[in-house]
Amino acid sequence: MNDVPEQRGEHPEAVASILDRLKPEGSLDVDRPHQVYCNRDLNMRKIEAVGFDMDYTLARYRQEAIDRLSVEKTLERLVTERNYPEAILDIEPRPEFPIRGLVLDTERGNIFKIDSHRHVGKVYHGFRELTQEERHAYRQRTIRFNQDQFVLIDTLFALPEAFLYAALVDFLESTEPDRDHDWRAVYDDIRYCIDLAHRDESLKSEILSNVEEYVYQDAALALTLHKLRSAGKSLFVLTNSYAPYTDRVMSYLLEGVLDEYPDWTSYFDVVVTGAGKPSFFTERSSFQEVDRDGDIHGEVTEDFQQGTLYQGGNLRDFERMAGFGGDGVLFVGDHIYGDILRSKKTSTWRTAMIVQEMEQELAQAREMREELQKIETFDREITRLNSELTYDQGLTYQIDAVLDRLESGELRADELEGRDADELRQTRDKLKEAQRRMRRRRHELIEQLRETERSFEDNFNPYWGLIFRQENENTLFGEQVEDFACVYTSRVSNFLNYSPMHYFRASRQPLPHEQF
Ligand code: IMP
Ligand code: MG
Repeated sequence: MNDVPEQRGEHPEAVASILDRLKPEGSLDVDRPHQVYCNRDLNMRKIEAVGFDMDYTLARYRQEAIDRLSVEKTLERLVTERNYPEAILDIEPRPEFPIRGLVLDTERGNIFKIDSHRHVGKVYHGFRELTQEERHAYRQRTIRFNQDQFVLIDTLFALPEAFLYAALVDFLESTEPDRDHDWRAVYDDIRYCIDLAHRDESLKSEILSNVEEYVYQDAALALTLHKLRSAGKSLFVLTNSYAPYTDRVMSYLLEGVLDEYPDWTSYFDVVVTGAGKPSFFTERSSFQEVDRDGDIHGEVTEDFQQGTLYQGGNLRDFERMAGFGGDGVLFVGDHIYGDILRSKKTSTWRTAMIVQEMEQELAQAREMREELQKIETFDREITRLNSELTYDQGLTYQIDAVLDRLESGELRADELEGRDADELRQTRDKLKEAQRRMRRRRHELIEQLRETERSFEDNFNPYWGLIFRQENENTLFGEQVEDFACVYTSRVSNFLNYSPMHYFRASRQPLPHEQF
């Protein structure tokens, strides 16, 4: 922290929280909600440029406020653009309902959670959880996303889609119970109207007129960018938001914090707005120079200028014009598909994913350490019982085979090498009794495990539990983070807790045969 320059401006809460975070509980370690977690080794010494997405990456939105706004604007459009009854305007938002990683089944009107093997977990129809029997349609089935039927909620902007789908299923079934509803059409209407609310600027103008209500300010963000720049790294912004909105949000986030950066663009070497990710990574649109009002001033094909905003563009020209690229770039984003997966597959950029939800989940998990330990103990005990049962069953089977051969005359009693048949029968009966006891115990333990898991998960999201975990498995969302993000963390300013030359090392999980 020696290189922190003087601060001005008023971010009292944020500044206090930086100090709290740097020395949590009197230690020098970074507390878990603010750590950077590593899937693949990342040596920051080798990173020459760090790029940032804006929305939900540099700009952290207040989820409840933005969800309410998005729901309100979408419901209005469903009435005006899609002839839904005005009564839907009274639908009360439930910002706690949706989480990232949910899947919408657009044929059945259902929403479900899914694990890394594409198996379906909890299912809701409207806001009613389906029973085991009702879920039979999904049993023994793995979900494929190349079918139009299933839609994955993979950005925080899309959470209202899941809420509105559930809310309209309930609304339409209660107001028109005898109708055979076309849930696909309902989903398409929601998608159309959310898209419209984003594109007709009604959402954005409301956010900008009251920005502190929708976007967190984090003074540590400016310090983080400064620290990276001071270590000689180039910084850039690559956002799908257009220039006027980007300008207003970025000014709110960064201006007035550090004296030597009077304008937000001075933190960055290149700023690309309206980038059109993910196609930015795969297609060849040209770069346009654009001003802060969004007026376009022609195509640009050579060097980028600091302080100028650009629009559009593509990966190949970006690397050529910026003068850096390949695995010397670390790109930080929140969207698994648009920011992380696409850049990973079409470039050799390293990736850092921002998972805003982790902050709260990890803080809650810390409170619930005891439950977590209980779950691990149950798990271990069940595994031990399983292997003991398998061993005993093997023995019983062998004894039975010997007794069968005795009975059929295939084996004579004097061939039993000192043992008699009664002794064998007694041993077998004892083994069987022990197996019955073990099975009963295992059944009890599984019940206790399920109960503890349920109450553990209910403490996170009452409908769905954790975003990374589904019972014993990772969720599909968790698996995608693991597969495509080199590192992941809850917010950009967590990098302030590490040296800009830090070597993030992945903790290698031993394979099953390597565990002793
Ligand atoms: P980024 O995360 O900075 O790349 O920007 C995300 C941009 O996408 C924001 O300007 C959002 O308003 C916009 N966006 C998110 N969802 C939708 C949508 O469904 N339709 C159109 N734009 C969207
Ligand atoms: Mg984003």
